Amino acid sequence: MSEPTIFERIVDGEIPADIVHETDRVIAFLDANPLSPGHTLVVPKEPHERLRDTPPGLSAEIFEAVRTLTPAIEDAVEADATTVGINDGPAAGQEVPHLHVHIVPRFEGDGGGPIHAVMDGAAVDGTVDSGTIAAAIAEELE
Ligand code: 5GP
Repeated sequence: MSEPTIFERIVDGEIPADIVHETDRVIAFLDANPLSPGHTLVVPKEPHERLRDTPPGLSAEIFEAVRTLTPAIEDAVEADATTVGINDGPAAGQEVPHLHVHIVPRFEGDGGGPIHAVMDGAAVDGTVDSGTIAAAIAEELE
């Protein structure tokens, strides 16, 4: 059996965390290295690694927690806006192999960028046309 993830250890109470929300299947706590005040992680209690591993009902519960928490966090820290994101897989920067949604409060003039900033300077392969990509996605969904 694989080692429990750090987030399972938080769920089990082995590691302390500032828990801000909890249901039967989802937990949310403050990030230990916040990008801004109130940076929160929303985590399924079951240790699914990626979105593709997560059952649909559970992903709905995760997003419902994100929906509930986002305005509460904004109001608590007097943020102007929020960036919500998932590093879904190591190539996207995921370090903890246990799905989590980042809720990052944003402030006017905070110096951060939009989601698009994560690809700033990246070499993107523009040789495949969008119609081919859209058709391939539709085929995967069949
Ligand atoms: P990732 O890069 O996997 O999307 O993000 C993992 C996040 O988990 C990071 O923002 C990191 O600061 C946070 N983190 C890592 N270990 C702990 C921990 O033990 N407690 C808490 N509260 N957050 C953690």
